[in-house]
Amino acid sequence: MRRLTLCSLLSLALLPIMSHAAGQANIASQYGATANQIIDAALHDDAGYARLANLCDRIGNRLSGSESLLRAVKWSAEEMKKAGLTNIVTPPVMVPHWVRGRESGAILSPVERPLHFLGLGMSVSTPADGLTGDAVVVADFAELASLGAKVAGKIVVFNAPYEGYGRTVAYRVGGASQAAKQGAIGVLVRSITPLALQLPHTGTLQYADDAPKIPAAAISIEDALLLKRLQDSGAVPRVHMEMQAHMEPDQEAANVIGEIPGSEHPEEIVVMGGHLDSWDVGQGAQDDGSGIMATLEAAALIQKLGLKPKRTVRVVFWVNEENGGRGGEAYLKWVGDKVLNHVAAIEMDEGAERPLGFGYSWSFGGRRAGPAFDVEQKRNAEQDRSFKLCQEIGQLLAPIQATQVNQGGGGSDIGPIVAKGVPSLSPTTTAEHYFDWHHTQADTVDKVNPTEFKKNTALLAVLAYILADMPEHLAGR
Ligand SMILES: [Zn+2]
Repeated sequence: MRRLTLCSLLSLALLPIMSHAAGQANIASQYGATANQIIDAALHDDAGYARLANLCDRIGNRLSGSESLLRAVKWSAEEMKKAGLTNIVTPPVMVPHWVRGRESGAILSPVERPLHFLGLGMSVSTPADGLTGDAVVVADFAELASLGAKVAGKIVVFNAPYEGYGRTVAYRVGGASQAAKQGAIGVLVRSITPLALQLPHTGTLQYADDAPKIPAAAISIEDALLLKRLQDSGAVPRVHMEMQAHMEPDQEAANVIGEIPGSEHPEEIVVMGGHLDSWDVGQGAQDDGSGIMATLEAAALIQKLGLKPKRTVRVVFWVNEENGGRGGEAYLKWVGDKVLNHVAAIEMDEGAERPLGFGYSWSFGGRRAGPAFDVEQKRNAEQDRSFKLCQEIGQLLAPIQATQVNQGGGGSDIGPIVAKGVPSLSPTTTAEHYFDWHHTQADTVDKVNPTEFKKNTALLAVLAYILADMPEHLAGR
């Protein structure tokens, strides 16, 4: 036992030395001091959080098609300039213009109760005098399917328990069309969140081409459970929903782009950012004000410290992530055949909670599936080397305890360029509360902890700087 302990101790002590191949010594010796300098500066920097508060409190939420989004575009370009970025442009992007309008919902019998009700993004309206029908509460798609045409003429209530965002969001996205195929006239979706606080969470739905478009809204967890109990007690709850939601013609908005030009290879790009738009409730603070403001501040710090990365660091605030993804697609068009000049794409879109490290992916760029976005991917030798390089960069984040490097990292805005072969990365956080407030009236700046925000800024600045400066390239697809 004693000997074993000694042995383990010895091998533990030797391990780091043995795994210090040439590469590792390189990243650590080349960038260790700079990383410490960046982290120290980030932890003492209040400008990024002040800018986030300004965006949230003075501009507020920023739905595609809204006047406040246009103000946010203009303001963002000015802020990039103030932060010391250059080559600032706002290439136009046509975005969908969905308007919520007035809306409400209620249980009419066997009790009378208003519902905590928030229409789903892109939903159609109800008739002007609303929609009244018997509610049918189902737990999942299988239960809905088993009812066949019995739901015809009824309002289907999806009461799916939260099993992680990536899984449960399917009811919000596809529930309306599934129910409509069986003849339902309206849909209510239990909010996609682990936390019951009588708070409805919106988010986009997608209508299938082969189903009638029926109106759909989120209700609070508590209201969904109440409807379920009423049904279980033998009643057929009658519900009423009224929504004026509708589409208006597409509107011109823009991506917002600024750079720190590279000192040796300005044509090679490390792009980082998040999305400028948000839902039309709350302030879009965690989602995704925190992402765009942290990436901007990361670049501002690199600039402020007088660091001159060899490649260009480009900050992009993509538009229309929430209900269309037009900004990410427009960015791919905007870069054209230069897409593979991107040596890395970093997206932050999961809130600025305590960072644990970051994820790296060479083959995935789609919508993230949830907080623990950890897709196992097979690696070839080159990808393996790249993953080890990432782990070496991760080690430099020890001062903020963010050394974990996972396989799998990306975001929906960088999806289109990642699909072309650009390696993707994203910060990993504890994401403990992200889905408590996501897409609600409660996503306000007070939910963003200033200290954790600064740590995220530190992480992004170290990551972007090293990726833009190191001799090696990360492997993409
Ligand atoms: Zn988001």
